[in-house]
Amino acid sequence: MDNKLAINGEKPVREKYLPYAQQWIDEEDIKRVSDVLRGDYLTTGPSVREFEQNIAEYTGSKYAVAVSNGTTALHCACFAAGIGPGDEVITTPMTFAASSNCVLYQGGTPVFADIKSDTYNIDPEDIERKITSRTKAIIPVDFTGQPTELDEIRRLADKHNLVMIEDAAHALGATYKGGNIGTVSDMTEFSFHPVKHITTGEGGVITTNSKEYYERVLLFRTHGITRNPSLMTKNEGGWYYEQLELGNNYRITDIQCVLGMSQLKRLGSFIARRKEIVKRYNEAFKNLEGIITPYQRQECDSSWHLYVIQLELEKLKVCRKEVFDALKAENIGVNVHYIPVHYHPYYQKLGYKKGICPNAEKLYERIITLPLFPKMNDKDVSDVIEAVYKVISYYKR
Ligand SMILES: *Cc1c(COP(=O)(O)O)cnc(C)c1O
Repeated sequence: MDNKLAINGEKPVREKYLPYAQQWIDEEDIKRVSDVLRGDYLTTGPSVREFEQNIAEYTGSKYAVAVSNGTTALHCACFAAGIGPGDEVITTPMTFAASSNCVLYQGGTPVFADIKSDTYNIDPEDIERKITSRTKAIIPVDFTGQPTELDEIRRLADKHNLVMIEDAAHALGATYKGGNIGTVSDMTEFSFHPVKHITTGEGGVITTNSKEYYERVLLFRTHGITRNPSLMTKNEGGWYYEQLELGNNYRITDIQCVLGMSQLKRLGSFIARRKEIVKRYNEAFKNLEGIITPYQRQECDSSWHLYVIQLELEKLKVCRKEVFDALKAENIGVNVHYIPVHYHPYYQKLGYKKGICPNAEKLYERIITLPLFPKMNDKDVSDVIEAVYKVISYYKR
């Protein structure tokens, strides 16, 4: 099988490019959105509140605040947690930059703790090593949809009086020790970007059981302005409101929230389909030498946002780049999640050095994300499997 790869000019496994992720919009979604466009409210009408109630109910949390995207949701949470200059916040480098950018927005300092080499989630032992008198919060990420070790992190947060803000952008619908994600941490963020489990185009939400955090997030979403009489310093009449803090306009629209509600109804079937695809991948790759399939802890049930394979580079003649390029040439939309956040030039300029998180840095050289989204059909799944076999067998030592 000398020259069979598409990258060497042969026929690709697929004619049409398969993306790594994609939303699934149906006619009901379109109808709900059109109905809103014909109605009275485009933004901050009844649908925002209703969507928030739906999310609170789904996750089992007391409060939910929907905002313009997952990044602004994290920013709201950092504001509510009172993070400011001089405060350190511990997070993982194996994540999207939003998980630590939200700390920088508030003038705080992100501190990176390393990941575990089995789950790729943040290592509670390394969190503990990195706690100082300046540490104010921990932002664990449920990487790929597999809940991180929430009980251990909760214990650390309680012991050291830290706020726990969970970046669950990957984990809507996941469970941890039988409980829904969205209730263990002080605040939990979800994203509704089109590659995530359900979409509102752009969108995000914070869930919490704390009335205080809830009110702080609400405040930050709209310029720090409130009409809540119990929060205002005085009340001059029906027109009156007060700006208490410097917030933003991080609002989400009714148009987005009706889409979110319509999508939420299908979340169960979306996750079920993701699990079916994962099962096929796992079975297909079980005996393929050269790659390691995702490890799952018994105590949690992932909602499978991403399927990340790890290359056993010792068994291959090439590096990740060659495998990545070869899969792409087969028209398989591979990706890499993630470039360690501290590798980015912006973070390098802030003084973060390579070498601070060896497990994450080693993993980065070896990972490839395969396509995974509910709308993939069985043929799409077979194509991915075929392409991985073709490429890995070709490059095997
Ligand atoms: C998607 C994502 C976010 C939020 O992203 P938005 O595009 O702003 O909604 C935050 N953290 C992680 C890990 C993500 O994957």
